[in-house]
Amino acid sequence: MTSHPYQDAALPTADRVEDLLSRMTLEEKVGQMLQLDAREDLDDAVRSRHAGSILHTSPERILLANDLVAQTRLRIPLLVAEDCIHGHSFWPGATIYPTQLGMAASWDADLLERVARATAEEVAVTGIHWTFSPVLCIARDLRWGRVNETFGEDPYLIGELASAMVRGYQGDGLSDRTAVLATAKHFAGYSETQGGRDASEADISPRKLRSWFLPPFERVAREGCRTFMLGYQTTDGVPITLNDWLLTDVLKGEWGYTGTLVTDWDNVGRMVWEQHVQPDYAHAAAAATKAGNDMIMTTPRFFEGALAAVEQGLIAPDAFDDAVRRILTLKFDLGLFEDPRMPSEHLGAVVGSRAHADLNLEVARRSLVLLENDGTLPISPAAPGGPISPAAPGGPLSPAAPGGPLPPAAEPLRVAVVGPLADDAQTQLGDWAGGSGQAGWLDGQPREMITTVLDGLRAVDGLTVRHARGADILTLVDDPLGARFPDGQPRPPLVVPTPPDQRLIAEAVREAEAADVVVAVVGDRIELVGEGRSTATLELIGGQNALLDALIATGRPVVIVLLASKPLVLPASASRAAAVIWAANPGMQGGRAIAELITGAIEPSGRLPISFARHVGQQPTYYNQIRGQHGHRYADLTQSPAWAFGEGLSYTTVEYSALTVLSASFGADDTLAADVTVTNTGSRPVLETVQVYVRDSVTSVSWADKELKTHRQVRLAPGESQRVRIELPVADCTIVDARGRRIVEPGDFELLVGPSSRDEALLRAGFTVR
Ligand code: BGC
Repeated sequence: MTSHPYQDAALPTADRVEDLLSRMTLEEKVGQMLQLDAREDLDDAVRSRHAGSILHTSPERILLANDLVAQTRLRIPLLVAEDCIHGHSFWPGATIYPTQLGMAASWDADLLERVARATAEEVAVTGIHWTFSPVLCIARDLRWGRVNETFGEDPYLIGELASAMVRGYQGDGLSDRTAVLATAKHFAGYSETQGGRDASEADISPRKLRSWFLPPFERVAREGCRTFMLGYQTTDGVPITLNDWLLTDVLKGEWGYTGTLVTDWDNVGRMVWEQHVQPDYAHAAAAATKAGNDMIMTTPRFFEGALAAVEQGLIAPDAFDDAVRRILTLKFDLGLFEDPRMPSEHLGAVVGSRAHADLNLEVARRSLVLLENDGTLPISPAAPGGPISPAAPGGPLSPAAPGGPLPPAAEPLRVAVVGPLADDAQTQLGDWAGGSGQAGWLDGQPREMITTVLDGLRAVDGLTVRHARGADILTLVDDPLGARFPDGQPRPPLVVPTPPDQRLIAEAVREAEAADVVVAVVGDRIELVGEGRSTATLELIGGQNALLDALIATGRPVVIVLLASKPLVLPASASRAAAVIWAANPGMQGGRAIAELITGAIEPSGRLPISFARHVGQQPTYYNQIRGQHGHRYADLTQSPAWAFGEGLSYTTVEYSALTVLSASFGADDTLAADVTVTNTGSRPVLETVQVYVRDSVTSVSWADKELKTHRQVRLAPGESQRVRIELPVADCTIVDARGRRIVEPGDFELLVGPSSRDEALLRAGFTVR
């Protein structure tokens, strides 16, 4: 077999790229830029269009695609991509972790890095090279269907967690066989919707982008995230695919980004058939290429369009070279020419492994946020079993202490587990998981890998558990506009909320009345979550409010488990609930983690990465809003959120005192140091998240009243007190000025330290920047 320089692994990547490029025809170059749907005609994709990449590949089709590559002239290996957002989403038997929003409640970058690393191991061993994760969109309007995919509403926290996940995916470098390409998405501004409507025009200025949306992207761009994916939005009339200012001036210019850009799904086609800003595929292909896009996701007609564009003189034949260079560089760096990294025979030992299940349990525990507790929690199962004993590493902060107002019962404690989500295994996993419908080759993940809340509580010694569904949520009807969108994508059916069913409610009430404590598991379903599935309201849908009203009217202590992809609004009766726990789709181990929390085998430690509204009309509710408005409330409602960013209870009490900034004045290059005393004043251990906000007293332009700048997590035994050191580079105390420059403005500042973003929860200390 002839051997060409590009086939010589000993040569530097750049030399191999140039050699291969020089051998490619125009058709092969244009094809290299195609990322096509592996569920469609693979032979056409690989042999006719010379596709460089495929996505949504079922286990069998990876092998078929590879066989087809072997029949091509240059045998350029495919980049195989998938949305492995919170675990290897669509691989049967893979480990599915809590959603990004759930994991964000841990506020623990190291933990998320470990999740991404474990995910990369599962992804890589199955022959996939590229995950479309993490999502760096900032959550703005809670009605948006993709809030669950975000790390929440704060740019600092998003940057910390995204950076960690990128490190985890890409590991020690692409030559490591367990490394996968990470993707920072969706660049940038996609989440600034109109009324939460998915992919609507993002009405957003360059300064606003720089203020809140771009910082996390800048961080991972500079840290070497190998790919960026664009969103769907247009801004100021310009589709993101052609946004020269963002793609060229900012990303590649200011930030020096040399990685690879992938469009979102059919962005190039959408410019023709949806946004009507390009007359045909030739113009669209030429414009997308000139704007610096490298990989064109699922627009097969880009191929004909690009060739026609060259023919018509819209673009030069060598205009595709840079994009192809970047794509080939990824392939050489991954070593795919030597080893296309096909699914391993030994993948069974890695995918869904015991070690990953243990990590999953750890992160599920950390994802739960205790929002309310009148002292009912933790409940104490009857002796002799006592609280469930954790078997896995990363378990509770200490052995379970006796506690809770319900005394350890001699008789088994009777628990009524009710609600439509108490035992709904696939719904618990949320979007981008086996049952979420995006992939089509699997209906769900194996039931036996998933612990629901009902399973979790049934496994606790000393409880007598009874179950009633109590309510249904919704049914579906076909959209009268047809089953498919113009581009052939499936059009979601319409949601019809199910009315309360008095028979189901009566059955649940009977179980509640016969119980010592009621655990009501309510929330949303996949049909209300995800792309194109924004919600107009934030209420619990279907019979769920009526169910909660009836349960609370029994006078029994009701623990509400809100198993919801995003912050939802509970009915008024919930103010009389004994406790409220938020479990954003908590993954396969979620039910066990929730049972452990309820029974006190673990300590609650999650903190909100996103604020909860009291009413949908309060949107937006994010904490870092711009100062200045008439008054501070609506005529008919407070503006205060139901639960604010950073909040979350423990089973103990914590006091903050003696905040001291170690110097009164700092230069712009200094690092501020401060100490605060944090004391566990209760009788149970705690993992406390010490949150550090900064308020710039006077700014040259309007700015957020305060912004999270750093945080620390400390473990405190009952009665223990620690002096916690806070260090903050003054260079982080920035605003974005009227000309769009990020700068530190000298003057007076306040350091705000405490357990949440609520002003009343924060200690303050002044400092000055010279
Ligand atoms: C989504 C992306 C996703 C892509 C591939 C798009 O519709 O916006 O987040 O990575 O599809 O599935």
